Amino acid sequence: MMAQYLALREEAGDCLLFYRMGDFFELFFEDAKTASQVLDIALTTRGEHLGQPIPMCGVPVHAAEGYLARLIKAGCRVAIAEQTETPAEAKKRGGSKALVARGIVRFVTAGTLTEEALLEPRRANVLAAACEVRGTVGIAACDISTGRMELEECPADRLAAALARLGASELVVPDGWDEAPEAAIRRSAHEFSSDGGEGRLKLVHGVATLDGFGAFTRPMLAAAGGLIAYLDHVGRGSLPLLLPPEARAADAALAMDEATRASLEILESSQGGRKGSLIDAIDRCVTGAGSRQLADDLSAPLTSRLAIAERLELVEWLHDDALLREDLRAALRALPDVGRALGRVVAGRGSPRDLGQLRDGLSGAHRIGERLAQRNDVPVLLERLLPELGGHGALVDHFARALVETPPTERGQGGYIASGYDASLDELRVMSGNARRAIAALEAKYREDTGVASLKIKHNNVLGYFIEVPQRHADRLMEPESGFSHRQTMAGAMRFNALALHEEAARITEAGGRALAAEDAHFEALVGEAVAARCGIARTAAALARIDVAAGQAERAAEGNWARPQVTEGLALEIEGGRHPVVEAALKAQGERFVANDCRLASHDRLWLIGGPNMGGKSTFLRQNALIVLLAQAGGFVPAKSARIGMVDRLFSRVGASDNLARGRSTFMVEMVETAAILAQATERSFVILDEVGRGTSTYDGLALAWAVAEAVHETNRCRCLFATHYHELARLAESCEALSLHHVRAREWKGDLVLLHELADGPADRSYGLAVARLAGVPPKVISRAKSVLEKLEKGRAETGGLAAGLGDLPLFAAALDAREEVCDTVRDKLRNMDVDALSPRDALEILYDLKREA
Ligand code: ADP
Repeated sequence: MMAQYLALREEAGDCLLFYRMGDFFELFFEDAKTASQVLDIALTTRGEHLGQPIPMCGVPVHAAEGYLARLIKAGCRVAIAEQTETPAEAKKRGGSKALVARGIVRFVTAGTLTEEALLEPRRANVLAAACEVRGTVGIAACDISTGRMELEECPADRLAAALARLGASELVVPDGWDEAPEAAIRRSAHEFSSDGGEGRLKLVHGVATLDGFGAFTRPMLAAAGGLIAYLDHVGRGSLPLLLPPEARAADAALAMDEATRASLEILESSQGGRKGSLIDAIDRCVTGAGSRQLADDLSAPLTSRLAIAERLELVEWLHDDALLREDLRAALRALPDVGRALGRVVAGRGSPRDLGQLRDGLSGAHRIGERLAQRNDVPVLLERLLPELGGHGALVDHFARALVETPPTERGQGGYIASGYDASLDELRVMSGNARRAIAALEAKYREDTGVASLKIKHNNVLGYFIEVPQRHADRLMEPESGFSHRQTMAGAMRFNALALHEEAARITEAGGRALAAEDAHFEALVGEAVAARCGIARTAAALARIDVAAGQAERAAEGNWARPQVTEGLALEIEGGRHPVVEAALKAQGERFVANDCRLASHDRLWLIGGPNMGGKSTFLRQNALIVLLAQAGGFVPAKSARIGMVDRLFSRVGASDNLARGRSTFMVEMVETAAILAQATERSFVILDEVGRGTSTYDGLALAWAVAEAVHETNRCRCLFATHYHELARLAESCEALSLHHVRAREWKGDLVLLHELADGPADRSYGLAVARLAGVPPKVISRAKSVLEKLEKGRAETGGLAAGLGDLPLFAAALDAREEVCDTVRDKLRNMDVDALSPRDALEILYDLKREA
């Protein structure tokens, strides 16, 4: 057994090995230590290996799913080694001492789950593979619980952002690729070949060319190859549901990097978890698939005006007709999760209940489609979706005839094939029914024959059917000619068999066994039918999800009095009466009101510098505008009175470092790395929010950096930008930057108390309210009054020296500095252009180099 265990252990690689022994999965050695810690279960020992006791722990097979879920959540992966033959078979094969054969039947990893119990209904579960082909990164991502597969490519420096959008629970990369994230799983590099990937995809989908699915590049195909090879490995040769791949164009989505996603708290709040996130505040979907689609929409808002307008049109249609919306949502709410049921069925882990869910989901979809089709004002997007809702008539009819109303989750006991579907199955059921009735009749007969009124016929798994009488009446049955044979003596009772009973019992077993086999065959046939129709079924599931998202958006908009945004080709960002959906909801829960604010950015006024006291609402204002852009481009209504949004290509959100951000790297370093990314990537079409950038270092450094960053954003990136800062000195930028304007959040001191109005106003902040905020926060009066006198000293000093920004008056303009550099570049360029390289001697060339160096 040790030899068998060690061989399997070797095969399991870096996964924990669940080793099946009877009713338990056992773990040994290091696996046992890890699992006992994660699961908080007892660690014991069993036997010895090399003179040392072997650590061991185990989990019961019937409860394994729960334990697996916890291990996966803790970042473990698990190899399941099952007994691949029964003990009886082992005995037949190798004698009484033979060891039962075992083999790894599957690997359970975070990215390859299909079990309902292990998946979150409202979150997609993404497995991704990435690799680099000649400087370009290919990414393949799939959610095997629904079969969706997407291929994309991006420049190597966008890998992190692309992965952040996908939010994969597992990432696979080729061995030896240094740029890959550390947590990625490394697989042999030759699995990531584009030819191999193309071949696998063709094979999976039974096509001679992939052209029908879209245009795929080499890096995309190589990543797909790695992904499928991994799935093949994990499933031990059986592949899960994979739908035809879709190519995702790199610029089809509003680009957001990881830091932006985290700081906008789109799918998760900064505390972790969905609570407090944007999606939590807006999700009114009534199906899990709808919530998953919404998460996808929010992760990748669109950049096509047409596509956005189509989504908005559908939302508006449902928004304006509350009755239709209610009706539709009620119908959707009643539907099972078709996509995931299909995923389980195709993965070979489907149950009769999953088939029932396909039947109910598809017939429900058909009914919804019919009802919507009766309308004569159907929006374009819906018109395209309607045909996808139907088209499964034959399959639904067949499943409806074949299956009972509520099929069980277990196949083993049978009973899920409806009566009337298969005459021979019905006959078998009649036979076993008759035999059961015969047994009931026998009980009465035996009572009469023996005169024992308390005689009973019972059944258990060990003996099958037997006759039981109390001990004191047993004598009558013990007589040889009574026709009963003794089987078992219990405390107070005795058990017997009889020929007639034996015969009827055999009939039940016979008929039951044949009935089970018949049901099994029908099950396989139904599964085959679903598998053959998988692409169509998946499209139906996707259409339902899309409709649910639109209805949910409409519902949320109606609930919060939201507006349909206008997305334009221009560069303006005009939001009237904007609100922050999450903060507003939190305030509402406390019975407080959110103060709506306007934002009006345009080419000639594209950088707003926002000052004002801490807690005055600066961050909230910044974020609400970023979120409104995001919501609008995701195709939904926005929390504002009106919004006109010039399409944004990239969205950046940065928050100055603060101590609670510490994650190993110096927080200020993180802040600067992130800021550098904005300066390198933001275009004229981008929208940037910068919250207290520069805060993470000393006052002088911080002010200097904030100053330079604001200037660069204004002069070079020329993007739309909201910049919150507590450095008053930055207000002087307004003198040199023509498209920069000053704003502040209002506050007032009233009877010595600070009143924060959360209202945005034009002009610089009049003064600092730091001490008032400190008082508001409960800093003791003694400390406040001490701070006041220190402040007075400092301010006096400032008046004398000109303060923190003294000397900035003669700073050359940022543009001027740039211009000077530009000039040098221009001369160099001219020189190079006019040079005839072929005619140059090495000596002349060297001369020229000296010249150029002098210029620089
Ligand atoms: P700052 O960035 O200026 O320090 P925040 O944006 O973090 O301020 O806001 C602090 C708190 O003020 C928020 O948690 C919220 O409770 C409240 N707040 C912010 N904006 C508004 C608003 N527009 N209306 C009402 N309350 C607001």
